[in-house]
Amino acid sequence: MQTILQYAQIICQNNQELRNFCDLNISLRNKNLDPKTTSGSSLVRTLDFKSSDETFPMVEAIKKHADEAQWRQTYSLSEVGKDFANRHCYLELIGPNGHFYSESIRGFIAFWGENLNYKWHSHEAEEIYCVLGGKALFKTKKETKVLKANETQFHKSWESHAMETLEDPLLAFILWRGKGLDHLAKMDN
Ligand code: ZN
Repeated sequence: MQTILQYAQIICQNNQELRNFCDLNISLRNKNLDPKTTSGSSLVRTLDFKSSDETFPMVEAIKKHADEAQWRQTYSLSEVGKDFANRHCYLELIGPNGHFYSESIRGFIAFWGENLNYKWHSHEAEEIYCVLGGKALFKTKKETKVLKANETQFHKSWESHAMETLEDPLLAFILWRGKGLDHLAKMDN
């Protein structure tokens, strides 16, 4: 996991929006979490994610070290359905429950298969997405746009957002800061 963290720190350092959001160049204690798979995580290793020069090393490191990660699912079957639950998963790289401990920042690596609809949801923590590989439609109540590798999107506290993957699977690096850091996203109803 150390390799993945190092590439995350490099991406954060070299991307202005991420760098302005938080500083990842701090020492973070490795909590040596036990690896865990989900039905979606077995796909990560095998898929071809369209990356950029900036994100390629991190995408390759995630695929190579996917077996060492503690993969989780955010939502229950009843909330998102079987297909979504089977083809979406995430790992907490940095954070209160992450591979590397932090109380002030949370960093997730998340995977979605192609043609998935991530419905409107929100959370208290402020958030920035950085696409590592693939592309997807990112929606807020104000705009919808396609994001590709090394492009970012910011969400304010409690700002509703949704996302749809198109013909490509998506791998994203997601950072959280501020209040509500220790809660996960909730579906809007
Ligand atoms: Zn979010």
